Amino acid sequence: MELRLDGKLALVTGASGGLGLHFAGVLAKAGAHVTLAARRAETVEAEAHRLREAGHAADAAELDVTRDDSVAALFEATAFDIVINNAGIAGGGAALDMPRDEFQQVIDTNLSGVFAVAQAAARGMTEQGGAIVNIASILGLRVAGHVAAYTASKAAVVQLTKALALEWARYGIRVSALCPGYIETSINNAFFATDAGKALIRRIPQRRLGRLTDLDAPLLLLASDQAAYMTGAIIAVDGGHLVSGL
Ligand code: NDP
Repeated sequence: MELRLDGKLALVTGASGGLGLHFAGVLAKAGAHVTLAARRAETVEAEAHRLREAGHAADAAELDVTRDDSVAALFEATAFDIVINNAGIAGGGAALDMPRDEFQQVIDTNLSGVFAVAQAAARGMTEQGGAIVNIASILGLRVAGHVAAYTASKAAVVQLTKALALEWARYGIRVSALCPGYIETSINNAFFATDAGKALIRRIPQRRLGRLTDLDAPLLLLASDQAAYMTGAIIAVDGGHLVSGL
């Protein structure tokens, strides 16, 4: 069975790079009209242009998920069928030294930003339903050192996902979360070539990092009508990292 999204209007936040840019391509290739949104407006515009050149339906929007006016402006123009709540920041550092405003910035982006976008999206979905996929992390379900704010924000996204799924099921709005494990990208592959990086990979039961493409089928499933009876689902894509032995 092929998972298709023809005729669907989709939004991907944080689509100027990394996972979000990849997700935008995946949805566009499955037939959705995709809006790529991020703070770097020129970057998302260039990437949307690239997708259109390749024959897909795409456009771009400037979006800062921490600003209410920015979120409102985006949803004023369009009601989306599918929203991928992907924008996020890492904000690492030792908890003893972390200034409160840095902690808050992670929460504002990763948690409050996800809520604001989900709420604005859901207000446009109450008639026809829709699918919201929050990009959490395995760090929403387990912890690691030096990412206290991040892991707290992602754990909250997991719980928020379930709470919104419960409240919005009556409108036909499905809310799910994808929890990627460590995904190899250009940003982190230098680290994973080091001894510390290799040691981390040995702790993953499948003994490898995730590839961006490992996320494609789970993302498409959660976004598509084929998952009509799935809501509140928290799906880990992590090579078994969450079930590594203690
Ligand atoms: P990147 O740093 O590569 O991309 C983050 C994206 O979020 C960028 O497009 C950035 O665009 C956007 N962004 C950041 N802040 C804001 C904001 N305030 N408003 C709008 N957009 C914003 O990170 P990844 O691709 O690695 O991560 C994407 C998501 O996946 C995150 O939620 C992350 O926590 C999650 N994740 C990633 C994993 C990984 O291994 N990479 C593993 C598990 C989860 P711009 O700066 O233009 O606004």
